[in-house]
Amino acid sequence: MSRPLIYAANWKMNHGPGAARSFMARFLAVTEPAPERALWFFPPAVSLTPVAEAASARPDIRVGAQNVHWEPKGAFTGEVSIPMVQEAGARVVLTGHSERRHLFGETDEQVARKAVAVLKAGLQPLACLGETLAEREGGRTEHAILRQLDPLLDKVPPADWARLVLAYEPVWAIGTGRNATPDDAAQVHELIRFTVGRRGVPGRVPILYGGSVNAGNVLALLARPELDGVLVGGASLDADGWAELVGLG
Ligand code: PEP
Repeated sequence: MSRPLIYAANWKMNHGPGAARSFMARFLAVTEPAPERALWFFPPAVSLTPVAEAASARPDIRVGAQNVHWEPKGAFTGEVSIPMVQEAGARVVLTGHSERRHLFGETDEQVARKAVAVLKAGLQPLACLGETLAEREGGRTEHAILRQLDPLLDKVPPADWARLVLAYEPVWAIGTGRNATPDDAAQVHELIRFTVGRRGVPGRVPILYGGSVNAGNVLALLARPELDGVLVGGASLDADGWAELVGLG
């Protein structure tokens, strides 16, 4: 694949500091930087520093937080702020992952607020969008995507648009073993790209696909030029398995 690709690993609530250190030692031993391939890691907040330190000599690796609060500090027990994750080594932040939206009740409005705060702090948001199974089966995929995308485009200042990265993650495909077909994924990526372009966002906003990506389906997905990379949960948890997957493209 000759275009630049982003392979993003979302470890969710796996790999504390010790396990993260061991993972990175193994992963770095079996991989080398490759042109046109960026590797993004989203460990739990407590493992940001070990991952960032381990990857400090690897310019192809970027470390990111799975979640942040939009306020820089204050009485928000249990939350972490953008300056905190930045100090711990994060340069990217996941916003609006479906587990945050559906398990923790984050609204489209809150997700947009987080993305704006991340951009304002000079970091990059990887903003996730995706329809539920009921929305897909009810023919409301487009509606669901636009409902999540519009508040984001409304709130993010045009000057920051160039730093946006999006991920299409159908909720029914996350952690289920049932990935979207390359055609389905490409169709929604086209919709997102069309919408972003119609709103006046210049250039090509990278759009990753996420949802049960593994070593067996990644090549067929990335064969579609509409996809600029993948966001991977389960298949990113084993260092050798993740090294194999990122080496396939
Ligand atoms: C994710 O967590 O964003 C994800 C896509 O998970 P999985 O690859 O396990 O479906």
